[in-house]
Amino acid sequence: MTTLAKNPAPDFPLAEADLCVKCGLCLPHCPTYLDSRNEAESPRGRIALMQGLATGFLAATPKLEQHLDNCLSCRACEAVCPAKVPYGVLIDASRAQMAALHPARIRWLAPLSFLLSHRVTRHIIGGLLQVYQRSGLQMLVRRSGALGRGRFARLESLLPKLAGSRSDRKLSAFKSSTDNAADMVQLFVGCVSDIAEREAVDDAARLFAACGFDLKIPNAQTCCGALDQHGGRPQNARALAARNVAAFNGDAPIVSMASGCGASLLDYTRLLDSADARRFAQRVRDPARVLLARAGRLQLKPLRARVAIHTPCTQQNVFRDAQATRELLAHIPEISLIELESPSRCCGAAGLQFVTHPQQADRLLQPKLDAAQSLQPDFIVSANIGCTLHLIAGLRCSGLTVPVLHPLTLMARQLMA
Ligand code: SF4
Ligand code: SF4
Repeated sequence: MTTLAKNPAPDFPLAEADLCVKCGLCLPHCPTYLDSRNEAESPRGRIALMQGLATGFLAATPKLEQHLDNCLSCRACEAVCPAKVPYGVLIDASRAQMAALHPARIRWLAPLSFLLSHRVTRHIIGGLLQVYQRSGLQMLVRRSGALGRGRFARLESLLPKLAGSRSDRKLSAFKSSTDNAADMVQLFVGCVSDIAEREAVDDAARLFAACGFDLKIPNAQTCCGALDQHGGRPQNARALAARNVAAFNGDAPIVSMASGCGASLLDYTRLLDSADARRFAQRVRDPARVLLARAGRLQLKPLRARVAIHTPCTQQNVFRDAQATRELLAHIPEISLIELESPSRCCGAAGLQFVTHPQQADRLLQPKLDAAQSLQPDFIVSANIGCTLHLIAGLRCSGLTVPVLHPLTLMARQLMA
């Protein structure tokens, strides 16, 4: 389709939107289209809306914004598109355009981004949440329903049981003794993982050390910028990306605890036009893929358990390496691996969508909960913290007690020493 660009939005990539030939091959892969059967909730429909908005042929009405906001940014459409439409770039640009037109729609994003992108504020939040849980206040709040049914209550319902602070002493004790630069790996922790998945960071350190890697956690790292990038604040996302590119100097592979953050790091070339950003993005790997190269060194105890793998969209559609987790876990003797849902679709967590769009998120999660009910796995593994929190909350509401772990945690638990 040729777009008549009467008054194009300056930062919207119309030429890339015009790559869409409206073939519709992406529709059967789009979770929101499958959920609604509404063309405006499909990739093809949304691209047409974005083109209309960017050229000024369509106004930014609440209805149009709702169709674009409902998009999960799961990029399942991008992964199957024969015309290679960079859908992720388009939806981010449209959200930036909507934010510029109506700044009030994202007024909550700046304080949230500030709190999560500073280690001090993250640790204060983590400490306060632990007090909230351990004092019994959480139990009282949940039983009384004092928070009502709004977004705050939803956010609280997603809070998992938090582990204690990560200990630097403990991490250095797990460090491999090698000085060989070829053995070095740099870990991107991620802001939500830093609060809600601290044990998994320790587990990753043990696992990399057991494989003879020297795992470094650069101190100057910050949030990956996904919140800002997908929320319509590209300038802030660019600033965070530049800080991370500077923090992760060297040539070592960069691995991320959360596949969602890892996907954002991979996309830094879309944010920064520099040789450093290109080199950085080339170093980003799935941690399971890096560990697989040396998994033969691991001494692992058998695990007689059924483990259901949840594949996050970012592993499937951005890293395009859904097999890495399965191949790594297959090194555990006697383990039985199954897919939680096949074909794997977005669970609805989708960044902050499980808070901002709770009904859609819960509908998209339901097939995963049904699968957990029928498969009765002993564990579910998920390499993305957002999916993990959404799954834990959904399982709890359904009365199911399956533990949801990071795959590196499950693997580290089986280390012999
Ligand atoms: S996004 Fe790609 S697959 Fe979907 S309609 Fe356009 S060209 Fe076809
Ligand atoms: S990113 Fe996901 S939800 Fe959005 S249009 Fe593409 S397939 Fe649908």
